[in-house]
Amino acid sequence: MMRRPLALLLSLALAFPVHAYDLPDLGDVAATELSPAAERRIGEQIISQIRWRDASYLDDPEVEEYVNRIGHKLAAVSNNPGLDFDFFVVSDSTLNAFALPGGYIGVHTGLLLAAQTESEFASVLGHEIAHVTQRHIAQIVGKQSQSAMLMMASLLVAVLAARSNSDVSQAAIAAGQAGAIQSQLGYTRSFEREADRVGLETLESAGFDVRGMPGFFERLQRATRMYENNAPAYLRTHPLTTERIADMENRVNSMRYRQVVDSPDFNFSRAKLRANAGLATDAVRDMESQLAQTPADPAAGYGLARALFRAGRLDEAAQRLEAVRAKAPPSPWIETLRAEIALARKDGATAIKVLEAAMRSFPSNHALVYALANARILGGQPQAAVDGVRRALDNRQSDPRLWQLLSRAYADLGKVTAQHRAQAEVYRLRGSLPAAIEQLEIASRAGDGDFYELSAVDARLRELKQRLIEERRDRKD
Ligand SMILES: [Zn+2]
Repeated sequence: MMRRPLALLLSLALAFPVHAYDLPDLGDVAATELSPAAERRIGEQIISQIRWRDASYLDDPEVEEYVNRIGHKLAAVSNNPGLDFDFFVVSDSTLNAFALPGGYIGVHTGLLLAAQTESEFASVLGHEIAHVTQRHIAQIVGKQSQSAMLMMASLLVAVLAARSNSDVSQAAIAAGQAGAIQSQLGYTRSFEREADRVGLETLESAGFDVRGMPGFFERLQRATRMYENNAPAYLRTHPLTTERIADMENRVNSMRYRQVVDSPDFNFSRAKLRANAGLATDAVRDMESQLAQTPADPAAGYGLARALFRAGRLDEAAQRLEAVRAKAPPSPWIETLRAEIALARKDGATAIKVLEAAMRSFPSNHALVYALANARILGGQPQAAVDGVRRALDNRQSDPRLWQLLSRAYADLGKVTAQHRAQAEVYRLRGSLPAAIEQLEIASRAGDGDFYELSAVDARLRELKQRLIEERRDRKD
């Protein structure tokens, strides 16, 4: 199946201005199979481009954190628990999920909304995780030459970028080409069967309901029949056969039956996605009818409050949310929305108070860290924002959201050197070394840093310049 891609890639490379994108640094690529380190580097560069340039990347820390929690729960009990995984969400109504090189797994919002239980959703993640732990991607791409790999990686980025381009014809071409690439690089039947088998074992070890897997895949297949040639995107890249579903069912029948209750976060994340979809007025109607169907579900009330908030109906949103909060167990989703409503009312003090209390109740919730820092900046407490973000950075040095908040807080404090030093890290993490270097140069000229700070800026500047030289040299090889 890997015989023809080079010609295809060449023709595609001509169709896209690939030089506009940063090409991955491949380092030493093994002749037969991509090394895990090289695979991770390629993945890192692709994901930084997606987060930076793809308009459909869902920049929602709450939903992203939920998907990561489920994904890491599975990865921790997989047959290769030492691998790094990162899960991200793409705002796209089609049913799809995909694994990039290096353990980066993307999930379309459509898939999360189509899953009827958390176990169904987890089953797709389990299948994708298995493609990574079984090193299927490395085996597929490792057979290519290094130059073909480079082209493929840059092309992937070009395709993703074109999707968010306003030029519809280019986006349509890109979509067609993406389909062609995916079918060229599609997993083989044996890879699919292996991912099903391994994914199912992971699903069971993580404590999910294993019936979720054949159940969800069967529904996907039914959807395929309904739309005939318009199969869900997921099934085009992971071709599903009746035999595969029968295999899953046989395995599930020999496993212990387990009743599993969905976590509240499953419903909260779906409610948030629905409340934020389409026009605000339609979302309010959608969430009103959802609440009428499931009046006892706190997530339904939360979803309506969020839709009302989006429509600018702040008083109704606040009332609805307080009604939910009076009955529901404590939830970071509810507290974050309370703070957002307070901020929209220019009441920074309340927003900060709400989020500080929520942080004490949910100390491991990262989305709250961002929300609190943002509230402190908007509420006129930039020094408190700096202190909180710096503590969080101790364990999350490669989190661009934290560096961005730090840069904003320093800007409000009038600390120019510190502001640009933090902004440099944002650009570095988004894959743009020249922009990072420029920020450090501004920082070193700003004139308000002490000796210690300026030495740190100079050291970082030398380090990033050296890295840029190495990157450029690797690309010429
Ligand atoms: Zn698959």
